[in-house]
Amino acid sequence: MHKAPISLLPDVLISQIAAGEVVDRPASVVKELVENALDAGATEMTIRIDGGGIQRILVQDNGAGIPATELPLAVTRHATSKIQTLSDLESVVTLGFRGEALASIASVSQMTVSSATAGATHGHAISNRTGAWLTEPAACPIGTTVEVLSLYFSTPARRKFLKTEQTEFFHCLDVIKRMALANPSVSWVVYRDGKLYARYQASDWSARVFGILEAMADGASKPIDFETADMKLRGAIGLPDAARGRGDMQFFYVNGRFVKDKLLNHAVRAAYEDVLHGDKFPAFVLFLNLPPTEVDVNVHPAKTEVRFRNSKAVHQWVRQVILSALSSSRAVSELSPAQ
Ligand code: ADP
Ligand code: MG
Repeated sequence: MHKAPISLLPDVLISQIAAGEVVDRPASVVKELVENALDAGATEMTIRIDGGGIQRILVQDNGAGIPATELPLAVTRHATSKIQTLSDLESVVTLGFRGEALASIASVSQMTVSSATAGATHGHAISNRTGAWLTEPAACPIGTTVEVLSLYFSTPARRKFLKTEQTEFFHCLDVIKRMALANPSVSWVVYRDGKLYARYQASDWSARVFGILEAMADGASKPIDFETADMKLRGAIGLPDAARGRGDMQFFYVNGRFVKDKLLNHAVRAAYEDVLHGDKFPAFVLFLNLPPTEVDVNVHPAKTEVRFRNSKAVHQWVRQVILSALSSSRAVSELSPAQ
């Protein structure tokens, strides 16, 4: 068979291929933008989602901002301010580090990043709306605003895989809830199609949990706060009565990252075995912390799985901690802030 000669792919195509993995739907765009804002130290976040995020996603933060000279780099693949060396990677504390989110999103949308830093006299915006990147002075508050328009307009094949605007919006909202539960000191305002949809004011951790997961409030949950030499598990678990027919109140974080991990879910499930009917899902918000050497959270940019070095020990310990919390009489008001 005749085959074409080998050639290097153009950069835009490489980004579009990466975009298929990193930002496969509007909710993944929201996740990347919110993670960037948190990495920049934001304490206030405004999120606007129009048309299920397909029409428009806007995330405005009051974080450190991006200097005008760095704006072109911010939207370039493999350019990051978060790691420089392999050893940085091994102890990475930021949510991002690959330097490909903004470039990937831009390759499948019309994106504008406006930003001002504390020292600057005014802000700047970079946009690909005219087809090429253009940086201009712009009036904007300190912090960064990223606006993403017409997601996947250039990749109709990808667009076909999206669900209804309603479904895509609720996926976006799920992501926001996950991030808000882990960041109670940040205030969040969410607009849907121009109307205020949700507001989570900066608060302590239990107020945030009960604000988002009402079913866990009013004595319907127990605090978790256990520590060994190298593992720490904190958070709250719902009493069996708070369990639901759906697993939409299950939030597990490993070293600050939201995960959906079979092993961890199984450990929790096993602890509830004797007190919960098999078709019910326990409610929980749990933060597991362990040394970076014991866990690999960098399996894949968009996936929420982790790998433990000693998975058997983690499973046993998590199960044991939850079992003893379920049988203790401590009240959730004694809860100390998580993380
Ligand atoms: P990564 O987060 O992996 O570094 P991104 O493509 O998401 O890659 O972002 C590229 C760079 O742009 C970041 O390293 C950061 O320096 C800058 N940046 C992106 N978003 C923000 C933001 N909201 N506030 C401040 N800087 C940002
Ligand atoms: Mg990022």
